[in-house]
Amino acid sequence: MRQSVGRRHAFKILAKQASFLLALPVAQTLFSALAPAGAATTTIRPKGEEMNLDDSPGSVDPYRLPRHIIPHRYELRLEPDLATATFAGRETIALTITQATSVILLNAVDLTILSALLEGASRTRLEATIELQESAQRCRLTLPQPIAPGEWRLHLTFQGKLNDQLRGFYRSTYKDAAGITHTMAATQFEATDARRAFPCWDEPDFKAVFATTLVIDPRLTAVSNTAVASESIEAGKKVLRFADSIKMSTYLAAFVVGKIEATPPVLVGKTPLRLWTVPGKQPLTSFGHEIAVASLKFFEDYYGIPYPGDKLDLLAITDFASGAMENLGAITFRETALLVDRQSATHGELERVADVVAHENAHMWFGDLVTMSWWNGLWLNEAFATFMEMLAVDAWKPEWKRWEAFGTARAAAFAVDGLRSTRPIEYPVQAPKDAEAMFDVLTYEKGASVLRMLEQHIGPRVFRDGVRDYLDAHAYGNADTKDLWVSLGKIARQPVPELMDSWIFQSGFPLITAEINQSGRLVLSQQRFSYLTNPSPLTPHPSPATWQIPLQIRITAGGKTSSSRLLLTEKDTTVPLPHDWESILVNEEGHGFYRVRYGQDLMDRLLKAGVERLAVTERFNLINDAWATTIAGLMPLTDYLDLTARFTTEQDKNVWAVILDSFSFLNRIVTVEDRPMLEAFVRSRLSPAVTSLGWVPRSGESEGTKQLRGELIAAQGKLGNDPAIQQRAAELYGAYRLNATAVDPNVVPSIVAILAHTGDAPRYDEFHDRFRTAVTPQEERRYLFSLAAFQPKALVERTLARTISGEIRTQDAPFLVSAVMGNVYGRELAWDFVKTNWEKMDQLFPKQGMRRICSGISNLATPELERDVRTFFESRKVDLGGKTLDQNFEQLRIIVAVRERDSRTLRTYLARSR
Ligand SMILES: [Zn+2]
Repeated sequence: MRQSVGRRHAFKILAKQASFLLALPVAQTLFSALAPAGAATTTIRPKGEEMNLDDSPGSVDPYRLPRHIIPHRYELRLEPDLATATFAGRETIALTITQATSVILLNAVDLTILSALLEGASRTRLEATIELQESAQRCRLTLPQPIAPGEWRLHLTFQGKLNDQLRGFYRSTYKDAAGITHTMAATQFEATDARRAFPCWDEPDFKAVFATTLVIDPRLTAVSNTAVASESIEAGKKVLRFADSIKMSTYLAAFVVGKIEATPPVLVGKTPLRLWTVPGKQPLTSFGHEIAVASLKFFEDYYGIPYPGDKLDLLAITDFASGAMENLGAITFRETALLVDRQSATHGELERVADVVAHENAHMWFGDLVTMSWWNGLWLNEAFATFMEMLAVDAWKPEWKRWEAFGTARAAAFAVDGLRSTRPIEYPVQAPKDAEAMFDVLTYEKGASVLRMLEQHIGPRVFRDGVRDYLDAHAYGNADTKDLWVSLGKIARQPVPELMDSWIFQSGFPLITAEINQSGRLVLSQQRFSYLTNPSPLTPHPSPATWQIPLQIRITAGGKTSSSRLLLTEKDTTVPLPHDWESILVNEEGHGFYRVRYGQDLMDRLLKAGVERLAVTERFNLINDAWATTIAGLMPLTDYLDLTARFTTEQDKNVWAVILDSFSFLNRIVTVEDRPMLEAFVRSRLSPAVTSLGWVPRSGESEGTKQLRGELIAAQGKLGNDPAIQQRAAELYGAYRLNATAVDPNVVPSIVAILAHTGDAPRYDEFHDRFRTAVTPQEERRYLFSLAAFQPKALVERTLARTISGEIRTQDAPFLVSAVMGNVYGRELAWDFVKTNWEKMDQLFPKQGMRRICSGISNLATPELERDVRTFFESRKVDLGGKTLDQNFEQLRIIVAVRERDSRTLRTYLARSR
């Protein structure tokens, strides 16, 4: 799965896909009632029967099904009725039963099961008694007599509703050009929602073949995981029989039904590939199509295994909770992640589509062909797909310098992993809400970062061969983390498990302090990085921990540079230096997942040599590590602010992203009276770069520079509150309104953001109107989110009210609430709104919705608001699964702690810089 795009907020660098990931899953109303289900019924066990054959008290994990009944084939027939938003289903599941039993347990929720019949090889037919255990999300079938081990077929008939929660089998709507609303049906099963569409063994290691039939209105079309094997009309209905799938997990099944249109199939190797949209949006498919073809070719080559399906469809769904979902052969996307107009899109918007398409294609092997055994190993799927998306997009467009921008993703992982309330990449999962909480920045971005570190350590070719070995060994099956290390270690001939265990099973990451000792040697010491340097009641103090750290350092001596690689295994490591050393850079090339803090002498020499001589990723790490250690109280704020002066001629957008994020952090803690001084300071830092870039791209300019122009203009107009920039933005917007090509696409979002920041009610109405009439998903999103950036109270209130009025899609509304919390003029109103409307939003929004909203609470950066936040959540006993809410609290604690510690320093510094 690929997460969807939130807004930048909070104090950390947020990778585009990661911004809401600090947040939490919701679903607490659905799952909080999940008492251990064993107590629900009692069964008298036949004598001698194994303990795990049924659901009697104490016999099984309430969230896992017993293992003596193994499904291997689903013949599934579903008949959705879009007009009534219901569906009827029937299925035959081929089972292998390995121990005598009279109870069959499988997953089902929000379904009505009408009949259950078990059929044996010798024509034995047994009608089962059906009991739905809603809270446990299970169905318990009791047979009139115990059955013998062997092959059995279970026939079930059932009914369900096409829900509006964007999970299971659900309803999505869209308006056509004439303004008429149409309905379509789509599915989203990961992690545990296949059980909402059909009764099944809904755990990733119960892999089975799916033979699906969809019975639909003849005017509609349907897509599933495989090619259509036959099409016929029966009783006035269109009956589509799909070919057998490969053996796959239930969460990868998919059905989409509606009036949808496809691009003509293009053969990639032997695979026909198409993109699907609702009518009228086919002109937005060409870019997504190009990267879909390119990445499919890339992966067949990289993995050395042909694509495992018989066709590949990529479908844009109008209501979609996450970013995209890797259903084998039928990948579903939210529209912004697949459809884009290359002429009017920003570079970032194009990159986003390329990333997500490549990510999902990477999953066809890593995730679909080979699947993690259980949700604790989700990182195997997601970290790998995130890593591979970079590799594929980098191969496709090397000029995009994708790995340089990966620093931002790594920084997003650091921001959460530096919390005491972080978790290891691999982490125990039991309940469904805990599985949902695993889809976070630690799984995706930290996982991908440590894979990148390993790849660079053992070498890209060895890494690739190890991956091939792993996929070959486990194709059509399931695997665990150790299986990947075994393959990589075998090919690399290195002890990979020993190296990687600390990164996967230990939370946090090291801070490496580099200092020169009295005998003139370099001493590298590692300790766990933490933002909170004083013990806090929030979370226990991090335990002392060490990592095996692949380290690359660059030493300049006598005018020459040399690189050396080390593996740090101890707490302290001493490195001899040439007598004439001039400067030392730790984490050369920047692939390591650790922060570096230099002693004063080392830092002075590094700066004296000139930051401009460092590579982009090295500059990025230097400023990003400096900012993190400043938040942690290990570097004085004044030193950090001085350091930013060395970057005024910086030309890289990633490096600037760190600096702009740090200024935005300060804007959250500065008092209203001091804000004008901060604005003046921001202007002084940004002016040289803004002036040199101007408003218009020069010929031959890189995409990165175009993006940087947009980012800097927006920051200068908003954080810098620069009247000249604001006036120019208004003029250019006027020109853009008359002629959409009058302004560079990368500057348009900045103009919109600045005009919202300074906008009044007529401007608000205009942007709202542009949101409703937008012709591309990106434009729609841009104007929607502009509504979160206005300052007047009445306008903020109108935006908030819209999030629950039904006007805004529930896939977007939680992000919008969170974005208002990120607006320093709207945050208190937003928080009041969240408190007042919590229940309503919880019912209305998809399951991740409340997690996304809560990702905004670290913006409530005053001691009073912090107290109020804690009181609210404690009195409600809100549990969003996993550790995400704790992480939000800790982020809030940190920003308030910085406010309390550094406010006076900041004021003095700003006053002095005037
Ligand atoms: Zn994914």
